[in-house]
Amino acid sequence: MTPRTARFRCLALALLFGLLATEALAAQALNLGIFAYRPTQVLESRFQPLADYLGAQLGVEVRLHILTQEQMNEALARNQLDLFFTNPSHFLMIRSERSLGGAIATLIRRGPTANTSSLGGVILVRGGDSRYDSLSDLRNATIAVPGPYFLGGFQTQLFEFREIGIDLQRTARLRVLGSHDRVVRAVLEGDVNAGFVRTGIIEQLVEEGRLQRDDVRVLHPQELGEFPFVVSTRLYPEWPFVALPHVDQKLVRRLASSLFALAEDHPAARAGDIAGFAPPADYQSVELLARSLRVPPYDRVPAVTWLDVLQQYRYWIFAVVLLISLLALTAIWLWRQRKRLVREQRRLSAMVETWPEPMLIIRRGLFVEANSAALQLLGYHRRESLAVQGLAGVSPPFQPDGEPSLEKSRALLQAVMDQGVQACEWRCLRNDASELYVDLTLARIGQHDDGEPAILCALHDITRRKRAEAQQRLAASVFSHAREGIFITDVEGRVIDINDAYQVITGYNRNQSIGSLVELPDEGVSVLMYARTHGRWVGEFRSRRQDGEAYIKALTITAVRDDRQRLTHFVGIFSDITRLREQENRLTRMAHYDALTGLPNRVLLADRMQQAMAQARRQGYRLAVAYIDLDKFKPVNDAFGHEAGDELLVTLAGRMRTALREQDTVARLGGDEFVALLVDIPDRALGETLLQRLLTVIGEPVWVAGHSVQVSASIGVALYPGRQELDGDQLLREADQAMYHAKQLGRNRYWITASDQGGDAWSP
Ligand code: GH3
Ligand code: MG
Repeated sequence: MTPRTARFRCLALALLFGLLATEALAAQALNLGIFAYRPTQVLESRFQPLADYLGAQLGVEVRLHILTQEQMNEALARNQLDLFFTNPSHFLMIRSERSLGGAIATLIRRGPTANTSSLGGVILVRGGDSRYDSLSDLRNATIAVPGPYFLGGFQTQLFEFREIGIDLQRTARLRVLGSHDRVVRAVLEGDVNAGFVRTGIIEQLVEEGRLQRDDVRVLHPQELGEFPFVVSTRLYPEWPFVALPHVDQKLVRRLASSLFALAEDHPAARAGDIAGFAPPADYQSVELLARSLRVPPYDRVPAVTWLDVLQQYRYWIFAVVLLISLLALTAIWLWRQRKRLVREQRRLSAMVETWPEPMLIIRRGLFVEANSAALQLLGYHRRESLAVQGLAGVSPPFQPDGEPSLEKSRALLQAVMDQGVQACEWRCLRNDASELYVDLTLARIGQHDDGEPAILCALHDITRRKRAEAQQRLAASVFSHAREGIFITDVEGRVIDINDAYQVITGYNRNQSIGSLVELPDEGVSVLMYARTHGRWVGEFRSRRQDGEAYIKALTITAVRDDRQRLTHFVGIFSDITRLREQENRLTRMAHYDALTGLPNRVLLADRMQQAMAQARRQGYRLAVAYIDLDKFKPVNDAFGHEAGDELLVTLAGRMRTALREQDTVARLGGDEFVALLVDIPDRALGETLLQRLLTVIGEPVWVAGHSVQVSASIGVALYPGRQELDGDQLLREADQAMYHAKQLGRNRYWITASDQGGDAWSP
């Protein structure tokens, strides 16, 4: 609407209302407003006869006012109408705004074939336009409508579209043309794709000769039995005839009866295509439609005051407010608790940090605080590196008792949570993987219901003590398991402790030993003195067991000093070496003596010869080496057996030994060969006597194997010192050669080496 037309309308309205007011006042007339759903002159010609009819019936002038809905609303607002006749949706709108009763009557419209008190909507397109067939074809079409408050001309169609899910107001272009006639014209002229009009309009226009029936085509036509008009929608009640409350009730009753009495063939009825009036219809279907389309009076959200809400939901609101208050109180309480906890935590952290001993705080199994001493002890430079560890994180996989550290630490922390305090020894692993033993004291701080209690963890390094203990244990096990006898004495040599081996070797038990002076070689005091000054004494000596048995003891005595080098103890370790010495002696014997005869063997003979030769040189006497070989010894073996031969050898060895002097040596070289070393021979006579004595004792019969056997010997003699300087071997070889010579001379004799023949070989 342009500003100019708006101004013109206002002026026209003012004029009209002025007119109505003066007329109403001038005579007791009734003002009947009729909705101008078609051009004014058409409606005037159709309804003036009805006004006249009613006026005549009531005896009051009934003035007809053809008004748009807007004009009718204004007139009603100014109280200038007594009666109105309009479409149902407009009626509902007016009823919602003013306190109206119901309608007096509902129009029965005359149709070409039958009469009806229902109306509906028609959807038309141009007769030749085949583009549109169903409702959905019009989704995006341009559609002419008489106006938004027209029931049959707009709302009924809109509802049908709504029912199939199309919101025409959004999808289509709607052109509001003000009246049904303009809509039909716009469709015919092709200005729009389709048009909406109410039922009966098409038939009226055809009857008036303004339209050929084929000029338009009706979409979505409905087959509704008796209904006399073409229709595209469902049906609603026809127009209501309404009297305003201020109209005298008697007059209203008369008016109603006049309306009901209007006969179909009455001129007033015929002029308006009215078949009569029926008692007021139920307009609920129209109400539902208006509600569903959200058209006035249902286009506004009902004004609900806070008071209404309060009234209706008071219990809910009370409950919600209560809950919110409780929540708020809880939040405040939690906040204050948290603040208190944070304060306490800070205090605790400060205390831990200033504590001189290693101390940590554990929360949820992890170290959340650690003081400098703890960091240093565990070998961490940064607090953060330690913070991601728990107790198990700074422990080796297993504790000394063999239990896994992880499980053990969990159980320990749980025990602290349950009982408050726990203390134990713990094996830790420093950051550099070195081992560390600590005395662990764990204490819970805060209660379970404080949410998250912390555990204070104090460490005390006991690694040195543990190592010393381990060493002691080792020493103790050595002490008790050693096979050597071990004793500990005080500085005077008084026994303090002994081990088991001591008792086994000596035969003395603890009671007999402890407190007594330790048994030492004869020079006992000097042994201790020696150990004191030299750190240790090592030696062997003969001792006796408690039962009197002799044994040889090999003893090491060590002086033990303290940190300040003061003598505190002597520790002795000894073993019984008797067997060892016997073994050694046996071996020595075997090395130097002939096993069969017990005479010195070749080795010992060489030794003795060397000594005797040296002595002879020193003291200026002579010695003789007599090489003795038995004559015809083999036949003895052959005749009586090897053992008999042995017996003979043993007997002759003994005889030779006794035939000589103490200082002389008889050695067996092997077989039937012997050597007699005759020392200190002052003259020939003694030498020859000794040699003759040898021949004699050998030649005497021997009783072997039940027989008397008699052998002789050939003896070769070399003298020393002689004309040549000879060594022991050469001397022996000379004697051997002399013996060979004696054999050749017929055996059973001695022969002195050729070099010594003649002269006085025996004289020094
Ligand atoms: P001859 O007068 O030339 O010395 O003759 P013989 O029979 O004594 O022979 P000879 O000295 O050459 O050999 C010594 C024999 O002594 C050879 C061997 O059978 C025997 N014989 C060597 N050693 C032993 C021994 O240990 N026991 C015994 N029963 N006989 C031995
Ligand atoms: Mg022989």
